Amino acid sequence: MRARDLLARKLERVRALFDLHRARLQQDEDLKDLLSRYLRAFADTEAVAREVGLSDFCARCGREGWGTCCGEDMEFHCEDVLLLANLLLGVEFPTRRHQPKGCYFLGEEGCLLKVRPLICRNFICPELADHLGPENIRKVQQALGPEAETLFLLCLRLKRLCPEI
Ligand code: SF4
Ligand code: SF4
Repeated sequence: MRARDLLARKLERVRALFDLHRARLQQDEDLKDLLSRYLRAFADTEAVAREVGLSDFCARCGREGWGTCCGEDMEFHCEDVLLLANLLLGVEFPTRRHQPKGCYFLGEEGCLLKVRPLICRNFICPELADHLGPENIRKVQQALGPEAETLFLLCLRLKRLCPEI
């Protein structure tokens, strides 16, 4: 089966599970709390990324196309459970790939997902590592801790509530 068909099937399956379990998931207080905690932790990581100059450096890389982040097939790193969390947060999956060689979830202004795979969040290419230096790399990695932990708990809760995922 071609990658395009595999992806279409994957998205269709997650949407169907969302439709089936939506009401129950939306009423679960633990899940609501974990989603809020994840968004706060994500925002905290982003604040550190801005402070140390990571955001500007990667945004420039994205505009000028130096690097290989957010490339084609990266969408397959987005587990179904993570996509389900995105639907719960109101994310709409794109209906087409915006950039021919880009990840399916890469929009005009960057990633369209609110809940993202850890591999997307903790990747530091050699050029970025040189730009940041060891102290700032340590700050970014430290900032990612709460986000990674909350993502783990969020996925666990979703899997408990929706075992088919
Ligand atoms: S990590 Fe490196 S390749 Fe990826 S967006 Fe940043 S600068 Fe570009
Ligand atoms: S950050 Fe978003 S667009 Fe980039 S590879 Fe990850 S999921 Fe795809």
